Amino acid sequence: MQGFVYERLPARVIFGHGTFRRLPEEVAGLGLERALVLATPQQAQEAERLAATLAGRCVGTFAGARMHTPVEVTAEALETVTARQADGLIAIGGGSTTGLAKAIALRTDLPQIVVPTTYAGSEMTPILGETTDGRKTTQRSLKVLPEVVIYDVDLTLTLPAGLSGTSGINAIAHAVEALYARDGDPITALMAEEGIRALARALPKIAGDPLDRAARGDALYGAFLCGACLGAVGMALHHKLCHILGGAFDLPHAQTHAIVLPHALAYNAAAVPQAVARIERALGGVDAPRRLHDLAGAVAAPRALRDVGMPEAGIARVADLALANPSWNPVPLERDGIERLIRRAWEGLPPA
Ligand code: NAD
Repeated sequence: MQGFVYERLPARVIFGHGTFRRLPEEVAGLGLERALVLATPQQAQEAERLAATLAGRCVGTFAGARMHTPVEVTAEALETVTARQADGLIAIGGGSTTGLAKAIALRTDLPQIVVPTTYAGSEMTPILGETTDGRKTTQRSLKVLPEVVIYDVDLTLTLPAGLSGTSGINAIAHAVEALYARDGDPITALMAEEGIRALARALPKIAGDPLDRAARGDALYGAFLCGACLGAVGMALHHKLCHILGGAFDLPHAQTHAIVLPHALAYNAAAVPQAVARIERALGGVDAPRRLHDLAGAVAAPRALRDVGMPEAGIARVADLALANPSWNPVPLERDGIERLIRRAWEGLPPA
């Protein structure tokens, strides 16, 4: 056994069906008397419903969260926080809403309770990505780590089939890169393998029947584990490329992850045989990149970057950006290989 450093992040996690009913006691447990509920405009009703369960301890809702956490939305939400003298935040939604809660917490130190309704996993990480003038930057700070996370499987039943599949593969991507992280450790590896297994089992079932409660439970459990992996260790090529693609072309987050993951793993696979062995065990067979490509097909995820809005002329630009500021990856970033990878993902070809 090689030596390792493992840092457990402080967070209270409640998991189950109907667990959102535990919110009032969690709010009281944190001593909140003036909580503000956050959501996207699409989930404003859920936010109102949650707020209504908090009689006397809630000062209303702010349903303006947007993808990639634009700082102007944060500024607007901060005005509401100040005007209503909020003493805590409750985020109900996916990574966009969690991102808004984190951005407010960074600036105010207010405690956060997050009720995730996608598989993005942001609730388990001390990471915040924010967009200023179209440029997205990421930082790590324990200030943004939510104090309490309430996973309620029932709240995920409404996540549309398509987004369920891509969001689930977004979660798998965290675990895949955690398995070959430079600062990886055996505990995180256990969570990663189990997270991939749970999601790979559940996602095709959800694609067939989005109301399959058992599969929804498996998927959310997997998403929790994969999110914890993202919070615990550093990521590599896959996350870097998705970050660049999202920032440069405003591509949809989960879909971009689902398209790029098989290709990024194919680029790294030969250098990380132990990680590949674990991924293959979790996916139930050999050729992990191909299996991830097939999983994307099984959940009817888009396969080509050109189908989600990336222009062909962008291929060289993404390669330039990836090489301009290279971060750690198990295989050094090399211009031709990266450009080939992006072109295959753009065309929707199988990984090679
Ligand atoms: P999202 O939060 O933007 O949600 C997509 C849409 O689905 C929204 O309209 C939302 O309201 C709706 N939705 C969510 N849950 C639903 C449900 N159960 N039923 C019906 N509709 C529902 O998408 P996402 O993929 O969860 O999050 C993407 C964002 O999260 C990106 O900005 C990404 O950068 C960020 N993110 C951050 C981290 C981190 O650790 N900082 C990790 C993962 C993702």
